Amino acid sequence: MADLAATASSVYRQALSVIESVEPRIAQATRQELADQRASLKLIASENYASLPVLMTMGTWLSDKYAEGTVGKRFYAGCRNIDTVEAVAAEHARELFGAEYAYAQPHSGIDANLVAYWAILAKNIESPTLERLGAKTVNDLSEADWEELRAEFGRQRVMGMSLDAGGHLTHGFRHNISGKMFQQHSYGTDPETGLIDYDALRATAREFKPLILVAGYSAYPRRVNFAKMREIADEVGATLFVDMAHFAGLVAGKVFTGEENPVGYADIVATTTHKSLRGPRGGLLLSTEEYAPFIDRGCPMVLGGPLGHVMAAKAVALAEARTPAFATYAQAVADNAQTLAEALAARGVTLVTGGTDNHIVLLDVSGFGVTGRQAETALLEAGIVTNRNSVPRDPNGAWYTSGVRIGTPALTSRGFGADEFVQVAGLIADVLAAAEPATTKAGTPSKANVLLPAGIAERTRAAAAELLDANPLYPGLEL
Ligand code: PLP
Repeated sequence: MADLAATASSVYRQALSVIESVEPRIAQATRQELADQRASLKLIASENYASLPVLMTMGTWLSDKYAEGTVGKRFYAGCRNIDTVEAVAAEHARELFGAEYAYAQPHSGIDANLVAYWAILAKNIESPTLERLGAKTVNDLSEADWEELRAEFGRQRVMGMSLDAGGHLTHGFRHNISGKMFQQHSYGTDPETGLIDYDALRATAREFKPLILVAGYSAYPRRVNFAKMREIADEVGATLFVDMAHFAGLVAGKVFTGEENPVGYADIVATTTHKSLRGPRGGLLLSTEEYAPFIDRGCPMVLGGPLGHVMAAKAVALAEARTPAFATYAQAVADNAQTLAEALAARGVTLVTGGTDNHIVLLDVSGFGVTGRQAETALLEAGIVTNRNSVPRDPNGAWYTSGVRIGTPALTSRGFGADEFVQVAGLIADVLAAAEPATTKAGTPSKANVLLPAGIAERTRAAAAELLDANPLYPGLEL
């Protein structure tokens, strides 16, 4: 590792001086970003730190090649190296997750979800319609049949977790494309426990009869039982689509196994590669063989040309995720989240669902008299980076919110363990206890602006700096 840091230091120093000669502001922002990331407690549940090999893999000429299509079937000549890159990424993904098929092209999680939706429509709506009309492709359809097919697409239904219960925008939220291309209905969580109520979900699915049942979340601090989700999907004839963008690292590291592992239960599983999976910014799809030909239509029907350099970095990250060290990391992510939740609860912080059994802890900060937005700002001033988040049935809506979402993947990558997370919990609790809403011009408490008593931000930053210095980010990397 010492050698790797020395090599990376030399490579990045030289690369930055080249960049500087063309556009100094970019070289400066790149240096500053490393300094900023090193100097803050990153608790954003969806972020991580990719390894130096993963980062280095992205900075190459693999970026320069157009390769629309799939491995061995490209719309451009000269794609043999991109074929290798994509095939290796897919092979690692299949073997890591035990999936029948993997598609490494999506540029992000949202793109992966869109490819999945179109694949489900193509398999379940377009193909049977073409067959019924005796057509091979949509080109063989008359204008009237084509209109009918488009109308049929518009009648399809998606049912996912609501945004305020922890679902993602792409799970059918009204303002998202997924809520516009489909008729949508969402399921929430039990008002008492904050947990998914599978009986209520089943009843809603029976009534709504979705084509697609979506499982997965962005801000739900608990595990999901995918066997139950499969049962419900089968009962109502739905395709089960799981978005494991957040918890893919815990599946890869075998922390989520059996009924908590969506692969084998879902028809299609989508993920990002940059959150708990600790790879480059990107998306990935896994599926059964049945769905493979429809997912392969992703590029160029939904996606732009594949990013060769990023698929290469996905391959490197997935190779890393297949090592025992990654499994140890994933277990530490989950253990640290438990420790963090318990330490926060002991300091009187209210937690949605009372705790966590994944990598997310969702704080309800209303008891401190501040909104989520104010808590987020106060914590940021003190050097703790989080994001505000709605809590179920949030009275402050999606902009101000009453919650703050935190997660352990990034700081665990830096080497934080139980002791450090107990201290982090103490720092968060101290800042929340000290934060107060500012007063608006009208003399009412502001929902946006927050006041912190003198000294607390500085004291917290100093305590955070000690923890951060003891667990350096990219140790030995010097620019
Ligand atoms: N799916 C889930 C569950 C997410 O939480 C997110 C991102 O926050 C996404 C998809 C979108 O990922 P991306 O930002 O890579 O498009």
